Amino acid sequence: MHNTRLVEELKEIAGAANVLTADEDLLAYGFDGTWYESKPLAVVLPLTTAEVSALHKLATRERMAITPRAMGSGLSGGAVPLEGSLVLGVMRMNRILEISEADGVAVVQPGVVNADLQRAVEARGLFYPPDPASLKQSAIGGNVAENAGGARCLKYGVTGDYVMALEVVLPNGDVLRTGGRTLKNVTGYNLRALFTGSEGTLGTITEITLRLLPKPKFVRTATAAFDSIERAAQTVSAVMASGLLPTSIELLDRITMRCVEDNIAAGLPVDADALLLFAVDGNQEAIVAGELEAIASLAREHGATSTCVAASEAESEALWSARRAISPSLARVRPHKLGEDVAVPRSQIVAMIRAVREIAARYGLTMPIFGHAGDGNLHPNILCDRRDPEEMARVKLAAREIFEAAIALGGTLSGEHGIGLLKKQFLELDLGPEAIAIMHKLKDAIDPLGIMNPGKIFPNPGGPDAFRL
Ligand SMILES: Cc1cc2nc3c(=O)[nH]c(=O)nc-3n(C[C@H](O)[C@H](O)[C@H](O)COP(=O)(O)OP(=O)(O)OC[C@H]3O[C@@H](n4cnc5c(N)ncnc54)[C@H](O)[C@@H]3O)c2cc1C
Repeated sequence: MHNTRLVEELKEIAGAANVLTADEDLLAYGFDGTWYESKPLAVVLPLTTAEVSALHKLATRERMAITPRAMGSGLSGGAVPLEGSLVLGVMRMNRILEISEADGVAVVQPGVVNADLQRAVEARGLFYPPDPASLKQSAIGGNVAENAGGARCLKYGVTGDYVMALEVVLPNGDVLRTGGRTLKNVTGYNLRALFTGSEGTLGTITEITLRLLPKPKFVRTATAAFDSIERAAQTVSAVMASGLLPTSIELLDRITMRCVEDNIAAGLPVDADALLLFAVDGNQEAIVAGELEAIASLAREHGATSTCVAASEAESEALWSARRAISPSLARVRPHKLGEDVAVPRSQIVAMIRAVREIAARYGLTMPIFGHAGDGNLHPNILCDRRDPEEMARVKLAAREIFEAAIALGGTLSGEHGIGLLKKQFLELDLGPEAIAIMHKLKDAIDPLGIMNPGKIFPNPGGPDAFRL
């Protein structure tokens, strides 16, 4: 079909103002938080499930690829469309449909920004724990499609642990509703788990029912600085072995602190080799304070050169703002950065950090390390310049070695960012051929024409390569 006619049909479905074809719009919807870029044929911004369904039917008829997109903050290339395809942006579907204290659930549309949901439920004394550092720039649809994590996942788990029900528009336009609002539900296969983390490759999520918890009354933050990152990692293991369960244990290494400090002057101890940021929450102030003091004392026993408990909410928020500023701060240092997302069992955190530092030194690369140390999810970032083929050859080898090290330690390629385009050529390192074969069969069963977000997750020889210059 001629493109002009197709665009007219898109406008009939979503309204002319909600179909974008100007070059500047196509550019804006052609990238995410990675270094990939592409140019779609059009961007369509539907408002209702019925419109999404009609768009899928049109794409099916035309055999046209669709890439669902929320806020485009993804760090694995998932929202980057195929050249000449259709971006289906869900940001106008941004209503919180219901918050129920009685059932402890929120029902939301996929374009609701994570931080907005947090604020809305907290105003009602409730709590939605998953808190990606991008909480102000990512939406629940993207969080569910990536099964996003965050700092509080150490205690509370990831997005998928809160997904109770989903409405999903299947590739052919059929609307599937799966799950419910009961805490227990084992009826049939767990389809909501299948769609959670499916990175837009199985359908477009149009409504989400999320489990909520009572909001903890007290949250306290503390830091511990170390002159050796290994001692910091040993402290993480000691805290986790002590029987305490902090809300968060975040790690920032020396290079990370320096980059954040150069960007936002947060007052971080840049002379230290590493900083741990702890949070503890609960309903009894004395217990929360006591647990935090026990953690600080474990840190001192393991060689912390200083420990500090945030004296006020404002001081605590300043520390978390510094933590959230890491990615943008690293992005200022070199033209590009390759953000990794490996996760290892927590007993292997020291070994993983050692391996990353050794790989960085051997390849002569600058690799800040930060991440959710308490759950073993580390983000070694490789700062580089994609225009330098010699450097990129080293980056590629180093990235592979980081993945191999994580897997050898019993870990995985991705703790929370997903596979997308960035890691698909490494998928086979992590999953055996049987798992990949089953994933192919599931994809073919649900999306036989392959129109949903093609080119993502599955290794395809000749497809986009993160290291092609
Ligand atoms: C500064 C920064 C910090 C970050 N920190 C974290 C962190 O702490 N933890 C973490 O997990 N991630 C983090 N991320 C990564 C990113 O924010 C998350 O992956 C987030 O969940 C993506 O949400 P989004 O709304 O931007 O989705 P997008 O980037 O728009 O999309 C992500 C994927 O979801 C799919 N998708 C989007 N909407 C739908 C839908 N309605 N139906 C089906 N598929 C859909 C897309 O096709 C794509 O594959 C960070 C990113 C940045 C830039």
